[in-house]
Amino acid sequence: MKELFPTLIGNSGIKSILAREIADGAFPHAYILEGPYGTGKTTVATLAAASIFCHNRDKEGMPLPCGTCESCQKVLRHMSVDVIYLESAATVDEIRAMKQTMYESANENDYKIYVLKDAQNMTVNAQNSLLKSLEEPPPHVLFFLLCDDAEALLETIRSRAPILRTETLSDTVVREELLRRSPEAGTLIKRAPGRLEEVVLFSNGSLGLALDGVDPKKSERILKLRAEATDVAKAVIRGDLHAYELAAKMTSYTRDALKELLPLVQTALRDAVAIKRDPDTGLRFFAEREDASALSGSADLRRVMAACDAVTVAISDVKRNAAVPSLVLNLFLAAQQS
Ligand SMILES: [Zn+2]
Repeated sequence: MKELFPTLIGNSGIKSILAREIADGAFPHAYILEGPYGTGKTTVATLAAASIFCHNRDKEGMPLPCGTCESCQKVLRHMSVDVIYLESAATVDEIRAMKQTMYESANENDYKIYVLKDAQNMTVNAQNSLLKSLEEPPPHVLFFLLCDDAEALLETIRSRAPILRTETLSDTVVREELLRRSPEAGTLIKRAPGRLEEVVLFSNGSLGLALDGVDPKKSERILKLRAEATDVAKAVIRGDLHAYELAAKMTSYTRDALKELLPLVQTALRDAVAIKRDPDTGLRFFAEREDASALSGSADLRRVMAACDAVTVAISDVKRNAAVPSLVLNLFLAAQQS
């Protein structure tokens, strides 16, 4: 049997469904690929495109995509004119422009493949405009809608395409892949092994996030975000003057910023709860146990758990589009009222 998507790490579900359908040439006109940042959604769409166009598609004993033929090379380098990426949430005008080109036949291949990133951030108008194309697509068109959370798409869109989820990886696999792909990770493991461990934990199974964490251009932002999450976690527990300063600052944050920050605060607080219950427990945020203990300071377990619950509420408030100022204030007040 052909080896499918050989360069894709993990993701057995994607391999057994999507890759198999692509290999058999029996695929729908659209797929929704759902999964956290850095779990390979763009990679999967690109591998699918390469597989459809691969010159060695029908050759016995060759993996799919072969990765070496001219067509694969073009697609895998994002140079194919027939694979069109819309890099951020498409606007209604971009969808209209896409529809203009959609009915023209493909240039070099049998298919035109559109990869729409951040589909969950498309406006309702843009999604409705896209919907018509999903309902009656030209036969030579294949769509990939990429999103963190398919629930954020219109129900009418979701009902038009199978939803496949990209998987996070184990810490061990993330560590191995980091060392295999990134020279910076190799340097880090010699110079500061604790830092590398932090990156692995921070990534939460997302290889893309882990690679960002060792990329000198991107790691500074991630370090700042981690430091901020620790600061917020501490303030939610303590409710001191600093908590009020932070609350005031965070009321002007965007929802997207909170969506990124709050889950980290939650993971840090979970570590603080876990280490109070069992000093030998495995941690998810802190590489050093002392840092997890220091987070709660003199607060008792009940207080730390209340802080943890308050963050869980804030995360769900962000998801259901509650007003930012009130959800931030509730976050800092809730733990104090416990
Ligand atoms: Zn090929």
